[in-house]
Amino acid sequence: MTRIAVLGSTNMDLVAYVARAPQHGETVTGREFRTVPGGKGANQAIAAARSGAEVTMIGAVGNDDFGTRLRATLDHSGVDTDLLRTVEGPSGTAHIVVDDEGGNAIVVVPGANGTVTALHYDDEAAITGADALLLQLELPMDGVFAGADAARRHGVRTILTPAPVQPLPPELLEATGLLVPNEHEAAALTGIADPHEAVTALLRRVPEVVITLGAAGSMYASRFAEPVTVPAPQVRAVDTTAAGDTFVGALAVALGEGRPMEKAMAWASAAAALSVQRPGASSSMPYRSEIDAEAA
Ligand code: ATP
Repeated sequence: MTRIAVLGSTNMDLVAYVARAPQHGETVTGREFRTVPGGKGANQAIAAARSGAEVTMIGAVGNDDFGTRLRATLDHSGVDTDLLRTVEGPSGTAHIVVDDEGGNAIVVVPGANGTVTALHYDDEAAITGADALLLQLELPMDGVFAGADAARRHGVRTILTPAPVQPLPPELLEATGLLVPNEHEAAALTGIADPHEAVTALLRRVPEVVITLGAAGSMYASRFAEPVTVPAPQVRAVDTTAAGDTFVGALAVALGEGRPMEKAMAWASAAAALSVQRPGASSSMPYRSEIDAEAA
């Protein structure tokens, strides 16, 4: 079985649905409120576990009710949470206002995620034993770099989702194998709007890049081969939340199984296409048998 380590965030998403978002100083009455377990790290961990890997989540939750629920959600999906520490204080939260147009405004409070600034001894052991390490940017940069550096020293493939997008320190780029931005992140990192051109700039910094292009699919480029584009299955999308995390989780598993990049991307595209046809974040992520049926 493919082994994936995820060093990343767990957040409770606190979502208020409103007709119109409040202006500064204004109060509006919302229609509905939901708490949804999330965080890009946890989402990628669940996607990889449902795709058929043995997954270890490294990170931290707070000693509050949200922390208990976030851990239970990961446990329930079969993710190993032994290295998900419970620390004093609140769990990470994302405060999200969704209006009737589908637009949103989000405040993320890192909480326990902010304590992950270095690796514990057994974190490093989990990374060393994995086929790939999944990283995102919702933990402190020191923590992300510590993970990437451990993976590089042990020859473990690192897959970095540069979200939320921010300047990437050269030492992190040096330790990154595969960078997976969406097209907006690729543009923000390079200052180049066209993903086909942005990819050339990104390849000066990392050896391999996959840019996800929403309904248009995904594009792979490396320093050693011509770029290829893999189309996404044409489906009716109802909720694209966590489509990118589903794609990355499934891609990591397929690559860990030794599939060539183009085949792995097609399989990940099938997983993401299934997730966008269902509402929700991690709850919309497909299981391996469903992905196999969709990809067939
Ligand atoms: P999100 O932030 O919603 O998690 P993202 O912006 O990080 O997603 P996208 O590029 O929008 O990433 O989507 C990731 C992948 O999900 C795409 O490469 C594609 O395979 C799949 N996908 C997204 N939207 C659609 C769609 N409408 N139809 C089919 N597949 C889709």
